[in-house]
Amino acid sequence: MQETFYEVMRRQGITRRSFLKFCSLTAASLGLGPTFAPKIAYAMESKPRIPVLWLHGLECTCCSESFIRSAHPLAKDVVLSMLSLDYDDTIMAAAGHQAEAIVTETVEQYKGNYILAVEGNPPLNEDGMFCIIGGKPFVDQLKYAAQNAKAIISWGSCASWGCVQAARPNPTRATPVHKVPGLPDKPIIKVPGCPPIAEVMTAVITYILTFERFPELDRQGRPKMFYSQRIHDKCYRRPHFDAGQFVEAFDDEGARKGYCLYKMGCKGPTTYNACSTVRWNGGLSFPIQAGHPCIGCSEDGFWDKGDFYSRLSNINGFGVEANADRIGATAATVVGAAAAAHAAASVVKRMREKGGQS
Ligand code: SF4
Ligand code: SF4
Repeated sequence: MQETFYEVMRRQGITRRSFLKFCSLTAASLGLGPTFAPKIAYAMESKPRIPVLWLHGLECTCCSESFIRSAHPLAKDVVLSMLSLDYDDTIMAAAGHQAEAIVTETVEQYKGNYILAVEGNPPLNEDGMFCIIGGKPFVDQLKYAAQNAKAIISWGSCASWGCVQAARPNPTRATPVHKVPGLPDKPIIKVPGCPPIAEVMTAVITYILTFERFPELDRQGRPKMFYSQRIHDKCYRRPHFDAGQFVEAFDDEGARKGYCLYKMGCKGPTTYNACSTVRWNGGLSFPIQAGHPCIGCSEDGFWDKGDFYSRLSNINGFGVEANADRIGATAATVVGAAAAAHAAASVVKRMREKGGQS
């Protein structure tokens, strides 16, 4: 009989207390509420562990770096104990032919019952010769591993959209997973970002493994629970945006006061990701909080959309570019008028008080 997730975790030295804590944390990060923790625990105790193959194509390994640095060591340990027994050519112990044999074994033994996680993408030019794994083009390994997979997870912007290796003129023809010709028809879940947030990765994979279904996806194939809102929607600098208070240079007074970074090229208004809610490094901070504009790393084509410090100018129904300076000026006028009115009212009040006293 196949081991359950829970049995695997216990064998890896994870205590029951830690396991239950993990279930609560996962329920919270998925936005499911505390009542879902026992359901996650039950699923993990009763379901056989689903094998995961984690392949790497053209990429910089930042998704793995993000994942293994998941701020909560418990989440990391638990999820790694679910994954590392199979194939991940960056973190597994096996190497060479022994490692490649694991791919074949999983594909043959677990037909229709393993998850294929892909980090990076295959270059298609020159018959895929720009990325060779185990002596063969990565695109061949990808197609082979996909044929019996239950589903595919495209980690990061490389697998989801192409990313910088696909930048014009894309000499290697780096191609995102869902656009690879001849790829077996499987459900694909995209988790974009360069890299994606560690907690988002662990939550998505735990959801799929425990509930045996995808979280609800948007039209582009991304989990709605993490990609349904723009950075701008939940950005803590938003009140400054609304008030027309913008940073004009990285070392100006506005920067010191934490004003909005829109004029510094912030792509938050057009970027769907969870950075402004989940944040990074265990919820400690995120780029905008550190004073740098969002570069929109989770959006398709972000690498070819001009320089990172140019203002957004084509936001449909938003009109910010046309209005940012005007908003700033109007806000200043309104604030100025309000301040003047307030000052005048104070003078009148003081005069009345004075008059009353005399
Ligand atoms: S433009 Fe950027 S810094 Fe300004 S509120 Fe939106 S996301 Fe935040
Ligand atoms: S803030 Fe923007 S650029 Fe930074 S990680 Fe999030 S989506 Fe990517």
